[in-house]
Order: sequence, then C-alpha cells, then structure tokens
Amino acid sequence: MSDFDFDLFVIGGGSGGVRASRIAAGHGARVAVAEEHKMGGTCVIRGCVPKKLLVYGAHFAEDIADAAMFGWDVPECRFDWPVLRDNVLGEVARLEGLYGETLANHKVTVFKERATLVGPNQVRLASGRTVSAGKILIAVGARPSLPKLEGVEHIITSNEVFHLERLPKRVVIAGGGYIANEFAGIFHQFGAHVTIVNRSDTILRGYDEQIVDRLVKISLAKGIDFRFNSGFDRIEKQPDGSLRCVMKGCDDIEADEVLFAIGRQPNTEELGLEEVGVEVTERGAIKVDADNRSSVPSIFAVGDVTDRIQLTPVAIREGHAFADTFFGNKPQRVDYGCIPSAVFSHPPIGAVGLTEAQAKNRLGVIRTFTSDFRAMKNVLAGRNERSLYKLVVDAASDEVVGLHMIGPDAPEILQAAAIAVKARLKKTDFDATVALHPTMAEELVLMR
Ligand code: NDP
Repeated sequence: MSDFDFDLFVIGGGSGGVRASRIAAGHGARVAVAEEHKMGGTCVIRGCVPKKLLVYGAHFAEDIADAAMFGWDVPECRFDWPVLRDNVLGEVARLEGLYGETLANHKVTVFKERATLVGPNQVRLASGRTVSAGKILIAVGARPSLPKLEGVEHIITSNEVFHLERLPKRVVIAGGGYIANEFAGIFHQFGAHVTIVNRSDTILRGYDEQIVDRLVKISLAKGIDFRFNSGFDRIEKQPDGSLRCVMKGCDDIEADEVLFAIGRQPNTEELGLEEVGVEVTERGAIKVDADNRSSVPSIFAVGDVTDRIQLTPVAIREGHAFADTFFGNKPQRVDYGCIPSAVFSHPPIGAVGLTEAQAKNRLGVIRTFTSDFRAMKNVLAGRNERSLYKLVVDAASDEVVGLHMIGPDAPEILQAAAIAVKARLKKTDFDATVALHPTMAEELVLMR
C-alpha cells in the first residue's frame, strides 16, 4: 500500500474520467473522482444525449407530415416544447444517477466539488481538504467558446439551449459546425425560422464537400437561411425583448434567440496547471504524449481537455487505455485512424476515413463511386430529398479509404460499414457482398 490517499485521483466525472475510474478501480486501484457539476459530463448532461433526444423529437414533424401518404388520417398536431424539454431533462437526471451508481459499485470515492492541482501528487478540494494520489488524471473537458462581442450577454450556447423557457420563433445560429447544423435542423422542425451565420462559405469543414453541399441544398429547400462570409458587430436587446443582430457582411437580423456554436475550448483555467508545471498548448489544451501523460510524469489527461479529437467515444477509449496501461498492466494506445463521425442534422451525415480531397492529396490516384438516390420512403411521402453515398477508393490497392453518406439513418448504417473501412476492405469486397433488398444501405454494395 502506497503512502498516498489514493492510487488515482480523477478530476472530472465525464465520459473519459468515469471510464478511467471504473476500469482502474476494477484493476484494484483505490480511486477518487471530483466533479463540481453533474456526474456524466458534457455528453450526458448537455451534449450528445439530450441533443439526440431533441433530434428524435424534431423528426416527428416530418414523420407526421409524411404519414398522410401512408394512409394515416393525422389530426392537427401541436408541439409542446416544455413537455419534451422536461422529459429530456428527466432522462438526463436518470443517466446522471446511473453514472453515480456505477462509480459506487466500483467503490470509487466521489467528491462533489471542484478540485485543483497543488502538486504533482496533490489536489485541493473546494472544501479545503488536500488529497494525495499516486497518479492524477485530468478529464475536465471543454466548454463553448464565447465571442468577444458587445451584447454577448444576450446569446446562448449549447449549455443553455436545453433549458429554454419557450421555443423561439426566430433563431440565429453562429458557426457552421456540428452544433450549428444539428440545432438548425432541430429548431426548424419545431417550426422556428433559422438563420445560420458563418464566417466563411465553408460549413462542416473536414467533411466531404459533395456531402456538405447536399446538406446545404436540402437545408435551403426546407427554408433554413444561410449567411456566408458574415459576422456579428453587436447584439442589441429590443424593448419587446427580442434581439437585433447588427451584422458585418450581411443585413441585420432580428431574432428571439442567438445560439453561438463556434467551437469549444479546454477547461484549463484556474486548475493549478501552471503552478505545478503542466504544459498547455496555445489554445490552452493539456499537452500529452501517446500514453496521455503530461509534462509532469504523475499527471495525465484524456478527452476534450487535450483537444485531440473532441468526441465522446474517443475520450472513453483514452480513459480506458490509460487505466489498462497504468493500473491493469495491459499497455494500450488509442488508434486514431478511421474514427467514424456523424452530424445529426436533418437529414444526418455519417463519415469515416478520407474525403475525396484528402485522398487525392495523400494518395494521388483515386476512384470515387457515388449513389445519388431518393429513399423509397421519401418517394411515397412525396418528399423531394435525395440521399448521397460516396465511396473513395485508393486506385493502386483497391482499398476503400473513405465512406461518406447523407440520408435517413446514415449514422446507423455507417457504424457497421465503418468496420469494413477500418479493416481496409477493398472495393471488390463491397461488390462481392449481396445486397439486402429493399434497404437504403444496399446502395453501399451496388455502386459501380
Ligand atoms: P465546430 O468545431 O464543429 O464548428 C465551429 C464552427 O464555428 C466552424 O464553422 C468554424 O468555422 C466557426 N468558428 C470558429 N471560430 C469562430 C469564430 N471565432 N468566429 C466565428 N466563427 C467561428 O464546433 P461546434 O461548436 O459546432 O462543436 C464543438 C465540438 O463538439 C465539435 O468540434 C465536435 O468535436 C463536438 N460535437 C460533436 C458532435 C457529434 O459528434 N455529432 C455534435 C456536437 C458537437 P471554420 O470552419 O472557419 O473554423
């Protein structure tokens, strides 16, 4: 038994921190976690989970509209935001409880308060107690970046969006990334007029251009407005409580809510990092090596606070690898290749591997195959919304190096297909697989 109070002290009870705690405790380590807010972190409390539930809720608008063509006599429907909001928050509370239970079942000590570093092996809790540990893992995540803007106090971010008192009629969304496109779809389906304001004419940077173009086209056809190459000068509150966005690069916009989604920044302020000698990047992210070790040998970091790939499953893998490596005698490193991702827009996007442009740069000669089709359900519903699937193939090896999809259920389909891309299967393997008819996914094996 060491002289330290714990073998591992984890700061942050989100996806990465909880996984690392549970696995390290399972290996026999004495583990403590400090969480100043709610157990579960961004993903569970104010991110992926409540967002996906809102996406489901929003989708009913289209499903109900389409139902008539399938023979259903649908009475006039009314959407009640407080009902969905409160049900979603109830589910979030249930999951938060489960996270707490998991830690308790693994005999992890939980401190529901803020912890800061005071030494390579010491943390101080907000209540004043100092605790020591053989290793410290920082998994405090990130938070929405805020603009430097007059009137910034009038905006909301993804932290507040789940708690709105009432549904806005006009929403302006700043940014052209994941959150902007996901909430554009959500608010639009709930009947709001949505305007996306982006600083350039490129949205969803990093996704395949053809797929992104299709999303823009569909979004425009639905009535979502885009203001490209534009920014905000200031935001003014009007006497009637509405907001006036005074713009640069486009006409001013009136709104009931202004949602900023311009990226997330690591939560590294006032954590004692500098005092203890933990190095951070220019963006304030903790610098770590392939084993998640910081510049101080006893201090480690995983997840969004390291600003590598800001995705929940990546943080979970990093936390798991850290625990196995240092407490389970099973050294492991996360493989960052071919990580699938999705945008839960309406319709959603799923992607894995290289885009066409990336593949051209990296491999030189490539082949691409596309399927541009209208899903059977959309045809009968009279919904003029076309899906697009795209395979990017290395011409020299015939390996499928990228798969990009937009259309109903694209992320669900992509997760399975990502196994084939990760396994470096060839286009001939896709071709050799018999189609499963009638599905949308069969397009994956029918592209010639
Ligand atoms: P993103 O990084 O996805 O997008 C940020 C957007 O804001 C980009 O369009 C970017 O433009 C723009 N931008 C950046 N800085 C500024 C600025 N100073 N002024 C104006 N515009 C700016 O960020 P999000 O906030 O949407 O999401 C944060 C992260 O959360 C994502 O990166 C992702 O990792 C994660 N996330 C994942 C989801 C999923 O997996 N489905 C869902 C939601 C979030 P430019 O391209 O020019 O830089």
